[in-house]
Amino acid sequence: MTLRGMGILDSAALAALEQVPRELFIPQALRAHSYENASLPIACDQTISQPYIVARMTEALQLQGRELVLEIGCGSGYQAAVLAHLCRRVYSIERLKPLLVDAENRLRDLRISNISFRLGDGSKGWPEVAPFDRIILTCGCDKIPDILLQQLKIGGIMVAPEGNGKAQQLVVVTRHETTVVRRALMPVTFVPLIEGE
Ligand code: SAH
Repeated sequence: MTLRGMGILDSAALAALEQVPRELFIPQALRAHSYENASLPIACDQTISQPYIVARMTEALQLQGRELVLEIGCGSGYQAAVLAHLCRRVYSIERLKPLLVDAENRLRDLRISNISFRLGDGSKGWPEVAPFDRIILTCGCDKIPDILLQQLKIGGIMVAPEGNGKAQQLVVVTRHETTVVRRALMPVTFVPLIEGE
């Protein structure tokens, strides 16, 4: 079944997914599975999300092309590569150095140059660049850290897997002048956000 058939209607998001060769982000031994709609293991016991979830999260961000986007959990760099096609610049944080080094090399080879990388704990955000138009968390947190919400512009959108263990929900948060509106999209299973270096 195609992603469109599964209900992804944002054609810019679909085109961005098509432009990024997922097999380059998958360990050699698993490459035959690159185009299955499945999450797959990457190095350091982490995972690359299934294409449907990447598409769903990308679509929920409603990118128009001019945004600064913060990603927490660079992992393989696949989600960052998709976002890079749809916004001005992606700021991607990863706490595990081997993953970050590989992701940087891959994205350089793909000549994607509008991503900035940082090694460290993304739960603190990236204060030197904040506020962001969009924030995407690709690891599960019990509750979205307030520091991250504070780094979201008024009118900005954040997508995050929230809740612990098996009860995670993908939530979309929109920050308004005086309120924050939350909407649950679907149940998900992400590797956990780990705070600290
Ligand atoms: N977006 C990735 C999927 C990453 S899986 C991709 O497209 O491949 C989640 C990632 O979040 C893991 O690589 C994990 O190391 C990272 N992570 C967990 N806690 C973190 C934290 N506090 N700061 C930054 N990265 C974190």
